[in-house]
Amino acid sequence: MKDKKKIIAIVIAVVVVLGIIAGALALYFTRYHKDELDTEELYRQNVAAVGYENTIETAYPTTDVYGIIDKHFRSALPEGKTEKKVAIIGYDGCRADILTEMQQTGAVSYLLSKGASINLTYCGGVNYPAENTQATSTAPGWCSMITGQWADVHGITGNGITKAVEPKMLMTTLIEEEIIDDAAFITRWKGHFTNDNSTYKDEKAYCEENNINVNFNLRKNNADVHSAAMAEVTSTDCTDFLFAIYENTDSAGHNFGFSWNNPVYQDAFITEDNYGYEVIKAIEARDTYETEDWLLIVSADHGGIGTGHGGPSIQERMTFVVMNREWE
Ligand SMILES: [Zn+2]
Repeated sequence: MKDKKKIIAIVIAVVVVLGIIAGALALYFTRYHKDELDTEELYRQNVAAVGYENTIETAYPTTDVYGIIDKHFRSALPEGKTEKKVAIIGYDGCRADILTEMQQTGAVSYLLSKGASINLTYCGGVNYPAENTQATSTAPGWCSMITGQWADVHGITGNGITKAVEPKMLMTTLIEEEIIDDAAFITRWKGHFTNDNSTYKDEKAYCEENNINVNFNLRKNNADVHSAAMAEVTSTDCTDFLFAIYENTDSAGHNFGFSWNNPVYQDAFITEDNYGYEVIKAIEARDTYETEDWLLIVSADHGGIGTGHGGPSIQERMTFVVMNREWE
């Protein structure tokens, strides 16, 4: 009997130890190991399945978004409209292939159901695809969209670099030229305008000194970014230029892998796409919506591969723009 108890105890101990080893290995492979199934071939297949209007080879530079927004604000008001507005709903680190996972209650499929355009764009610099002159990272990615320039002009080759006041963000320029009254820049990442080496630290100071009404709004987390965005679009005097960035996909990617094969990454996209949907529905529910001319843009700053980004792979370089009008 004694021996039997001993054997049972040993078996239990072995099972526990094996369980711990298996758990550690699972954590290692999901969290730190590059996903070997995340091939360029699969990426291309998925991107084709999304239904983009262009191809990886004909993707537009993310810097073009600047001109599209600028043109929106500077062109004549359509019949019956009295005010122009823009919302950029940013999905940080959201790969272009994960849009295969779009849900009915997401911003992307909702905009598409109402005739939106959907195009591939690219980040990462001037000489694509020959060479990267700026990292496929957060600061350079958004900076190129919002200044209309690559790092050869704005100097933001990576994170942790403070931009000179020039070239200015489009919202700063539009307020200075009295094209719009105000803007709201909502983020949870301190690298944009909070840290000592943040991208827009000097531009924020410039705006404050010159009474340029850009509301630089740092929030604690994604849910908090969402509350601030919802508060903005549901208020009577909603900002003219909303720029709100959700980081669900970026966090999931860094922690568990930027990969279409990864259900954690898929869920992160679905969560932020739901946030975007709620913002758009709230805009459409505004009392003054019928007299407002909204340009709605859902986009990303970079993709990712393994648990990182910054390099030149197509998984990192490709981004996308979904918007409620044709690309022109
Ligand atoms: Zn990012």
